[in-house]
Amino acid sequence: MSRVWNEQLKRWTTYPYDLPDQYDFQWSAIFNINRCIACQTCTMACKSTWTFGKGQEHMWWNNVSTKPYGDHPRGFDAKLLSMLPKGKTIFEAAPEGERVLGYIPDDVDYDYPNAFEDSTCGPHIGAGQYQEIDVSKHKTQDKQWFFYLQRICNHCKKPACLAACPRKAIYKRKEDGIVLIDQERCRGYKKCIMACPYKKTFYNTYTKTSQKCIGCYPRVEQGETTRCIAACIGKIRLLGNIEDEKSPIHYLVHKAKVALPLYPQFGTEPQIYYIPPRWVNTKFLAMMFGNYDEAKIKHAVKTYMNARHDVELLGVLQLFGTTQQIIGSYEIINRGNPKEAKVRAFDLKGQELFVVPIYPKVEVHLTRDEQLNITDNKELASLDIRRDANVPWRNQY
Ligand code: SF4
Ligand code: SF4
Ligand code: SF4
Repeated sequence: MSRVWNEQLKRWTTYPYDLPDQYDFQWSAIFNINRCIACQTCTMACKSTWTFGKGQEHMWWNNVSTKPYGDHPRGFDAKLLSMLPKGKTIFEAAPEGERVLGYIPDDVDYDYPNAFEDSTCGPHIGAGQYQEIDVSKHKTQDKQWFFYLQRICNHCKKPACLAACPRKAIYKRKEDGIVLIDQERCRGYKKCIMACPYKKTFYNTYTKTSQKCIGCYPRVEQGETTRCIAACIGKIRLLGNIEDEKSPIHYLVHKAKVALPLYPQFGTEPQIYYIPPRWVNTKFLAMMFGNYDEAKIKHAVKTYMNARHDVELLGVLQLFGTTQQIIGSYEIINRGNPKEAKVRAFDLKGQELFVVPIYPKVEVHLTRDEQLNITDNKELASLDIRRDANVPWRNQY
């Protein structure tokens, strides 16, 4: 076992191999949970590109489930959390003779990839139950919540799958940090399936090997985003290099601290970061995204909610879903003047990709507007970015 620094846990931990703390390029992505509509376009984009072959029928390299009850395979997170002693990573808690604490799900656990879709959680309601709408109990309804969780392989910095493989068939690419399984070396021992805490490796019964998300490396090598990111209807996803201080990913994770990793307590340093949903119980979110630290969640939610007053944050949020190219860096133009503020994006080679306004002009359908009796939005007006102060707000944006 080597001693390695875990940046997410901010402490030294153990890992079976010496892996670099940093890469020149680390494939990382941010998923904004607040914007996901669970349309599963990402799921089908991945499926139709990579897992339509024999033996891959049950594989969902990308899946979107409804939390808190839904997951795939069934109960994967609850089960491991119940096995893991608090304060230890899955490497530190490995049983005698194993490198990683884990388990292999039963076949039936893969059978219902979207169980509990849209099931709410809250007072007086359990998994699979639905609450009737009753306006007189409005306050109770406000306490009900669920959210969509988008999951792919995290291309971890300390991959548990790699640690557990007795054939050394799994490797992390130096050039971009993508984790791959060498199909020639793999003998299907399923140690990676047991070890991955996110259960993102799958056994192919036809090839008798394990397979997983390949980070769309053929596209990444051309400077393009992945299929699941390019196809996202809600524009909730952004890919980039977290190690580069100029990258929007680096900004959102390390500077704005608005995006957080999933179950960092497992200790694999996962490289998908989530902007947490603003309507959900923060204690629950702290268990999922904050290593039980509620302050991290409160900071992320508050910062996100304040984005309209933070020109850089709002500018970076405009970059999501705007191009099929990987955005390497960005700059904010006219930062001090919201009316004219824009964000300019560059590709990985520093070539300009596009410029978009940070406070985009919005066309309002006046007839419908008047029917609904909508008056000027005071909060928006307080930003004072109207082009003409004498014209009502709704006629300008
Ligand atoms: S395509 Fe985007 S919005 Fe639709 S389910 Fe996937 S992540 Fe959510
Ligand atoms: S998410 Fe699982 S399969 Fe992916 S790199 Fe991490 S441990 Fe390996
Ligand atoms: S990165 Fe590519 S392989 Fe991985 S889940 Fe997305 S589409 Fe599938």
